[in-house]
Amino acid sequence: MAGAPDWRGPGPAAGERRPHVACQAFPERLAQGKPQQGFLPSFSSNNQSCQLMLLKTLQTNPYVKLLLDAMKHSGCAVNRERHFACEDCSGNVSGGFDASVSQIVLCQNNIRSQAHMNRVVTHELIHAFDHCRAHVDWFTNVRHLACSEVRAANLSGDCSLVNEIFRLHFGLKQHHQTCVRDRAILSILAVRNISKEVAEKAVDDVFESCFNDHEPFGRIPHNKTYAKYAYRDFQNRDRYYSNI
Ligand SMILES: [Zn+2]
Repeated sequence: MAGAPDWRGPGPAAGERRPHVACQAFPERLAQGKPQQGFLPSFSSNNQSCQLMLLKTLQTNPYVKLLLDAMKHSGCAVNRERHFACEDCSGNVSGGFDASVSQIVLCQNNIRSQAHMNRVVTHELIHAFDHCRAHVDWFTNVRHLACSEVRAANLSGDCSLVNEIFRLHFGLKQHHQTCVRDRAILSILAVRNISKEVAEKAVDDVFESCFNDHEPFGRIPHNKTYAKYAYRDFQNRDRYYSNI
């Protein structure tokens, strides 16, 4: 981990083009067969808006700041130009993590607000964090993918109460767990050609341990206030460790 500036980790063998490890699929990107850099000479308003929203997210969002600190602490410092790309995506895809090149893709044609950008960057950084800290076998072990999707849905705010109310799911008992499970299953189905039953089994097999793994937050950050507390605690934890 330390000494791996691109934190490629256990990626696919050189020259081998594998499907993206992402919560969504990028058919055009796959067809082009190339990783794109963060700053292409694109002057579209979507691209400029995406870059500006990304910058604000990286500088101000407590979820993201905590994840960036945690990755740096684990030897996987994130570089905006190297590790993020604003691109047009098909369908209603918001973003994805391309593990083969350690790059987060942000769908500039579909991310329309700062709040949406915050959530997408947080979600994808949780995948990047898992990629950094663990030898995740994204491509062949669906349980590994399931675990990271459970964590991303649980910790990113994807299933926060406000989001759920917008989806008219309020009032359901254990709505948070239900939302996390449902979203993890949908995310797997978006990138793996497997049956719903297989995806459900993978999520259920790992759910308890992965739902209760709150690293690096130390808690489920249900809103920005929780995230700020988690960020403060993480900084204090760092301080404590550096004193022993
Ligand atoms: Zn995901």
